[in-house]
Amino acid sequence: MTLEQLSGAKVTVIGAARSGLAAAELLKAHGAVPFVSDQSSREKLERGVRELTAAGIPFETGGHTQRTYDCSLMVISPGVPSDAPVVLEAQQRGTEIVSEVELASWFCPGSIVAITGSNGKTTTTTLTGRVLGDAKTKHVVAGNIGTAFSGVVLDLAQKDIAVLEVSSFQLDHCKTFRPKVSVLLNITQDHMDRYGHSMERYAASKARVFMNQEGEDALVYCADDPWTMKVVPEARCRKVPFGLQQPAGDGAWVQDGTLVTRLNGVEHKVIAIGEISIPGVHNLYNSMAASLTGRLFGVGPASIRSTLRNFPGVEHRLEYVRNAAGVRYYNDSKATNVDSVWYALQAFHDPIVLLLGGRDKGNDYTRLLDLVRLRVKAIIAIGESAGTVENAFAGITSTHAARTMPEAVAAARDAAVAGDVVLLSPACASFDWFDNYEHRGKVFKELVNRL
Ligand code: ADP
Repeated sequence: MTLEQLSGAKVTVIGAARSGLAAAELLKAHGAVPFVSDQSSREKLERGVRELTAAGIPFETGGHTQRTYDCSLMVISPGVPSDAPVVLEAQQRGTEIVSEVELASWFCPGSIVAITGSNGKTTTTTLTGRVLGDAKTKHVVAGNIGTAFSGVVLDLAQKDIAVLEVSSFQLDHCKTFRPKVSVLLNITQDHMDRYGHSMERYAASKARVFMNQEGEDALVYCADDPWTMKVVPEARCRKVPFGLQQPAGDGAWVQDGTLVTRLNGVEHKVIAIGEISIPGVHNLYNSMAASLTGRLFGVGPASIRSTLRNFPGVEHRLEYVRNAAGVRYYNDSKATNVDSVWYALQAFHDPIVLLLGGRDKGNDYTRLLDLVRLRVKAIIAIGESAGTVENAFAGITSTHAARTMPEAVAAARDAAVAGDVVLLSPACASFDWFDNYEHRGKVFKELVNRL
């Protein structure tokens, strides 16, 4: 569908939360005829109901009726998985389906930076926004990260930059989406339940971020990530790798303890690794990705250095909480898959008491065994997968199942001595005991602050 065809067209938006609302309003402003459908109850969608009513946009809650399918285009919100029954049904009927980010991109006069990967999207998107902002480059940060792209796209001018966090679900329904710069951080096991337990299918979904890029468009990618390296050859644009080793041409790497970038053959020593404010090798990768993106838009190395020194990090991502009785407590509630826990364990050299578990998405803990043996003195198993966690690490380290978060924090305190680290890095979703990962992290922090 083209923008011209869109005006006057019936469009159904799936999801009445932030992104769905913004998409519906964008459609209406353009002269389309939006209808919003959400499976959640009216009570849960209080804000959506209020805003749609005020905007005069028709909607339904509590499920999708036949009216949902009476449209020539369906727009799906970021939270809606590609295998949701409503999406499959529309697909079967031959309805054109696009993601919210694709819809918004049709209206974007400026440059798009699209950041994806299994882990590090929010951190890298936020950091890239800072790199541009500190250099006074006009930009917005949007996507899966608080602000819907549809809600801000009409404010952009041609020279502006939209820095977007995009998930694989959004990419599944992109058609013409063409970033000026795409960033592929890594492709590791996540959402396996939603991609038929196939890494190939999941990786193909991530690779869609660059499928329309050409010529001088750039793909910034992690050369140390095996699955990323499998898909990168498909790209038809400029390729800019980052990793620990120096690449053959342009890219970012580590040399004598310094993050170095090279673009168009020009090298810059950006920052000594020890000066980067956010900890761990994973954050070094995120810093390389943000530095390269900044450099591609002309940000100077001194400005990038200053941003990397001062970036406070993002809440719930390896967030330092406090020191109590010589024990340092960290909240990494956003670690909802095994790979992010691996990087969290890498980031510490002191003995760790690890809070692990929750709603399991099909985790294989084998990757953690060596590091756990080396660094984890005790695992406090939490959530509905506590039993699975105990079994997975039996004989590797001491394990203890907790029935509540207060019990888990108390058990961690008892297991730790001065000099140790207590780390909540659960590798699982939070919906068994909590509303979401933010809720889990906040409860953990409150309990720790009361110790
Ligand atoms: P996302 O938005 O992709 O979920 P976040 O920036 O929110 O990524 O981080 C999610 C979790 O992954 C946190 O536990 C964080 O410490 C960890 N993490 C961040 N960057 C990376 C990376 N490049 N590789 C692996 N893990 C990472």
